Amino acid sequence: MCKTRGCAFAARRALSYEKTNVELILSPMPLVSSRRPYRLARSRTGLGLFATKPIAKGDFIIKYWGPRLPNKIADEIDNRYLFEINKRWTIDGSPRRNIARYINHSCRPNAETDIIKGEILISAIKNIEPGDEITYDYGKDHFNGFIKPKGCQCDKCREKRRSARDGARTAAKRRKR
Ligand SMILES: [Zn+2]
Repeated sequence: MCKTRGCAFAARRALSYEKTNVELILSPMPLVSSRRPYRLARSRTGLGLFATKPIAKGDFIIKYWGPRLPNKIADEIDNRYLFEINKRWTIDGSPRRNIARYINHSCRPNAETDIIKGEILISAIKNIEPGDEITYDYGKDHFNGFIKPKGCQCDKCREKRRSARDGARTAAKRRKR
């Protein structure tokens, strides 16, 4: 193996990265039983939730679960899994047991969240095929605060960027001629 410091460091980092992923995938296993129509797997941005069975439009998929905090207390906490359900309460979805926290954002989602009797329920808004990643729209505030600064990795935004790049390339070619 390469003995330079940089290489050893990179190798160690790769190893620990692999380890964390394995732990992440294994630890919530009891909740992800084979009866459920989804599984946790590697996605474009880390981990995501993927359908393992066909899910029909309108079907309930999963509950976004976590301790319920008064909004005043939630305002003091800084994590990206806070989900305000009304003027008084916020669900803190950060526990790893909350499998729904692994659902990624998309600007062209196939699922949505509904707040029903203080619970956040996620259901399909399109027919979802096995292998499809399950996504919902995180909403404007979360998008502007967390996703936009890094660049959204959803299919819709990637397509938009690709066609913008292709357009610029075609325009550059035209100028050369
Ligand atoms: Zn997007």
